Amino acid sequence: MKPIKVAVVGYGGMGGWHTERIAEMEKFELTGVWDINPDQLVNARNCGIHTYTSFADLLADDSVELVVVATWNDVHKPLCIEAMRAGKNVISEKPVAMNLRELDEMIAVSKETGRLFTVHQNRRWDEDYLTMRNIADKNLLGKVFRIESRVQGSRGIPGDWRREKIHGGGMVLDWGVHLLDQALTMNDGVKLKSVWAQITQITNDECDDGFYCELRFENGLSYYVEVTTNNFISLPRWYILGENGTAVIEDWDLSGKMTLVHNWDKIDAVPIKAGMGITKTMAPRTDETIHDAPLEKVHGEWTAYYDNIYDVIRNGAAQTVTHRQMRRCLKLIEAIFESAATDTVVAFDEER
Ligand code: NAD
Repeated sequence: MKPIKVAVVGYGGMGGWHTERIAEMEKFELTGVWDINPDQLVNARNCGIHTYTSFADLLADDSVELVVVATWNDVHKPLCIEAMRAGKNVISEKPVAMNLRELDEMIAVSKETGRLFTVHQNRRWDEDYLTMRNIADKNLLGKVFRIESRVQGSRGIPGDWRREKIHGGGMVLDWGVHLLDQALTMNDGVKLKSVWAQITQITNDECDDGFYCELRFENGLSYYVEVTTNNFISLPRWYILGENGTAVIEDWDLSGKMTLVHNWDKIDAVPIKAGMGITKTMAPRTDETIHDAPLEKVHGEWTAYYDNIYDVIRNGAAQTVTHRQMRRCLKLIEAIFESAATDTVVAFDEER
């Protein structure tokens, strides 16, 4: 097995993550890093990592087969394009680009040069997501008709470039990309009909510090995505409604449960007092018609993403995160901004 030599551009939080992961895999070998911030280069050298003197110096290293771009979002496009033109395969961090127009330019260069070009959608292998998908795929709750996917923080938007529009800041382009990619990937092949979204700006004037979004798919699934940064009480990571049950996945630790109806037709209930009135409709079910079941936890491996990259480069395999999926995700992001700006439901154009 000939390891693939990788150089990382941008040695911040995520660049550091990539260098550590690359060091753990036999299939890859880190050649070095480049960052425009000299302090980051010192940090890298302190960790025993070779540093290049410039991006051109990195690209001139003929041993480098793969470049990982982990910089601020606004420079993904020029760096990825330059790397592909220099004959390198490229992984961009997410969001792959600032908008669809940029992405199309990048895809064109990938086609022209024949180089691998993809984006790091690592959260497709998150165990909470895989556990949710397993519930839906296996109909463990009967047909799933509603999924709610939330991540909620309480510290506002981080105080660095993520606050600045020029660098591609904002939560839609940050956590949003992950959650939207998850929604689209589990519904690959299912037409997305419409999008409604609202963005929030509680802690930051320039960029969105969160958003709420409703996706309506042609198969009847309604899928809600929420990323917020001003929540001091959090709702569960996942809330999944099926015809015969409900599931909650509380957090990334996979705590939660499924509650299943085994005698749907036994719906008689004694009315309960509710507020200033009574209700039978909203009275809880009795224990003989429902039961709780533990979540079927699904294991995920972060290496799956890199294994695919290796197979694409060495063995000509198909890439897991495809150009079509990357385009669909950016189209959805554009629809979210359009819906939020116009306060309307936006019809989603799968063909564009
Ligand atoms: P960061 O600010 O910690 O690091 C970014 C680094 O890029 C900085 O050191 C900066 O100096 C450097 N940089 C900026 N422009 C450069 C250029 N032209 N050439 C070389 N270096 C340059 O940010 P971060 O949190 O590491 O985020 C970096 C990227 O990773 C972003 O695109 C972000 O969305 C993504 N990210 C992905 C995940 C994930 O789970 N996939 C998680 C966090 C961040």
